[in-house]
Amino acid sequence: MRTRVAIIGSGPAGLLLAQLLDRAGIDSVLVERQSAAHVQSRIRAGILEAGTVELLRRAGVGERLDREAIEHRGIYLQWPGERRHLDFTELAGRAVYVYGQTEVTKDLLAAREKAGQAAFYEASEVALHDVATERPYVTFRDADGAARRIDADAVVGCDGYHGPSKQAIPAHLRQTWERAYPHAWLGVLADVAPSTDELVYAWHPDGFALHSLRSEHVSRLYLQVDPAERIEDWSDDRIWEALATRLGLDGWTLSTGRITEKSVLPMRSFVTAPMRYGRLFLAGDAAHIVPPTGAKGLNLAVADVAVLARALTTLLRDGSAELADAYSDTALQRVWRCTHFSWWMTSMLHRHGDDFDAQLQLAQLRRVANSPAAARELAENYAGLPIPGGLDG
Ligand SMILES: Cc1cc2nc3c(=O)[nH]c(=O)nc-3n(C[C@H](O)[C@H](O)[C@H](O)COP(=O)(O)OP(=O)(O)OC[C@H]3O[C@@H](n4cnc5c(N)ncnc54)[C@H](O)[C@@H]3O)c2cc1C
Repeated sequence: MRTRVAIIGSGPAGLLLAQLLDRAGIDSVLVERQSAAHVQSRIRAGILEAGTVELLRRAGVGERLDREAIEHRGIYLQWPGERRHLDFTELAGRAVYVYGQTEVTKDLLAAREKAGQAAFYEASEVALHDVATERPYVTFRDADGAARRIDADAVVGCDGYHGPSKQAIPAHLRQTWERAYPHAWLGVLADVAPSTDELVYAWHPDGFALHSLRSEHVSRLYLQVDPAERIEDWSDDRIWEALATRLGLDGWTLSTGRITEKSVLPMRSFVTAPMRYGRLFLAGDAAHIVPPTGAKGLNLAVADVAVLARALTTLLRDGSAELADAYSDTALQRVWRCTHFSWWMTSMLHRHGDDFDAQLQLAQLRRVANSPAAARELAENYAGLPIPGGLDG
């Protein structure tokens, strides 16, 4: 089988890239390890930057999003006795949108089906070959176990942190940076209307807590826990009790409901470079992971893809290599900015160290809440920095 672009992984990065390429008249084939049903049911991110929303609209998948996404003007920062609002639209001129990754994925999968382009789900033994040449190819076994080979002009690794693509870059050319944090998030999804109008990021002596949501009827809540914590040790009652304590504020009550999903998510920062080697390009979690505190993971994957779609279009349609040559450096600058922001939010809000560290965190939180300059710095980063080259493909 032959195509212009072979895309490994059909998470948000792979699906959006396929969609943008299709609209530019470039055909692609998606190769995904999981089933389509599994891909669209994974509960993960839920906050979209304004730039992400605009890009999804321009990719032709904004219709349901425009109907169902909930606009949030900002967030609350909380510490014992104080809950302070940061208004992003006032501070940075843009809002964020609550729309689950599951919904983004569903919209993109539907668009892919409509476009009639090939996709292989439940693929195994996926391997990349000759990526340093202009004739790279991908081999795998399809869902029926049959051996397959896809020849392409370019291969894009959108296969997340555990995928094989980055290993296809020779080890001596690859550099990685990694930070494992001494805490994890215990996340729950609950059938209960959110207890606040906007997200609450709460510092507490017992550990961080976040009140978020997925819709007007579904809340998403997180607790800082030890990475070694076993989910079996957290009964629903224990979770609600810890959330009520850490998010507690005089005159405010946390509504509780049926917990429908719970899991422990370890937190790490990870960056690998370069994001391009010959005709292999990496995008999204395949090249970088951020802790979820800044709500950046999905948005960063989308920003990579916006830059990459333009680079591949000019390379494969117009024969100009300039943007493709610049892709890794261009994407990595934004990746490091978001890596810093995610690390900073994580460090400010999660309990670690001793009482001295706690006082530093509280001083920082008060500074952000009281200084328009400090608040603007958080708001600009959280609401999303510009995508290099803009949004037009
Ligand atoms: C458990 C979890 C919870 C998260 N929660 C949040 C959150 O609360 N807030 C937030 O902002 N971000 C969160 N994130 C981050 C966010 O979901 C990711 O940044 C986002 O999914 C990145 O999209 P992606 O397409 O690059 O990677 P992914 O969504 O990981 O997609 C990669 C795809 O590649 C496929 N793949 C892997 N190996 C192979 C292979 N060998 N062959 C073929 N296909 C393969 C995978 O099955 C997957 O479909 C979370 C991530 C995880 C893992």
